[in-house]
Amino acid sequence: MSASPEIEEVVRHLLRAKSIAVLTGAGISAESGISTFRGKDGLWEKYDVEKLATPRGMYANPVYFWEWFEERRREMIKAKPNPAHLALAEMEKMFPDFWVITQNIDRLHQRAGSKHVLELHGNAFTIYCTRDGYRMETYEPLPAVPPFCACGAVMRPDVVLFEEMLNEEIFAKAFEKARSCDVFFSIGTSAVVYPAAYLPLEAKRNGAYLVEINTDETPLSRHADVVLSGKAGEILQKVMEHIQK
Ligand code: NAD
Repeated sequence: MSASPEIEEVVRHLLRAKSIAVLTGAGISAESGISTFRGKDGLWEKYDVEKLATPRGMYANPVYFWEWFEERRREMIKAKPNPAHLALAEMEKMFPDFWVITQNIDRLHQRAGSKHVLELHGNAFTIYCTRDGYRMETYEPLPAVPPFCACGAVMRPDVVLFEEMLNEEIFAKAFEKARSCDVFFSIGTSAVVYPAAYLPLEAKRNGAYLVEINTDETPLSRHADVVLSGKAGEILQKVMEHIQK
């Protein structure tokens, strides 16, 4: 199958690149059946996420918070990596310096085989005690919510909630990857959650070729060198087919 001129151009840049960075958001997991926040059928249609998914919201009503969060976790436990996650895992094997910087908490990049993954917002499967810091990983549905630590305090997920700071070390590494890459992809993100949304702009400012893949237009679209409009899985599969030709 012949590729579009845009895909051919992206592949030309990829084949010349020494270093590639990819920012992913909830949209890359939409084809795995995980709800996004914004956009059509996004979770904001149903929940006031910006109030609920804050430290204040969680501490004020841990039962309500955890009912919502456990519903998300169960969706993620059931989900499988889709062709977009698999294509990025394949690309990591082809390019020596290839990094995925994800805003997602679903671990689908790792389950697809990606090793170089920076999780900006933590993950849904590690939980820790809000009093003594005891941590555990669980990939099973929780028997009851909220989960309690043996010490009696409520536990919380190791995710960055709204109004919380990102892990500085992880963000610094993501920033460094964005600044030094030759090609930067922004995939399935509405590009409005900061500071993650700075990364594509920082990459572009430092000379990277900026590619956006999204079903809709975003505030980033006008800054991108090329916008590949459509579903991440379908587009990345075409990119891979063309690379391997
Ligand atoms: P978002 O929900 O704000 O935006 C999703 C974007 O993906 C939209 O621009 C939409 O047009 C696009 N999109 C939807 N389906 C697509 C597809 N098949 N292919 C390509 N693009 C598609 O997500 P965000 O920008 O990641 O920011 C919201 C925050 O929500 C993030 O911080 C993330 O931590 C969290 N979140 C994570 C998950 C997850 O882990 N899967 C799910 C929901 C929300």
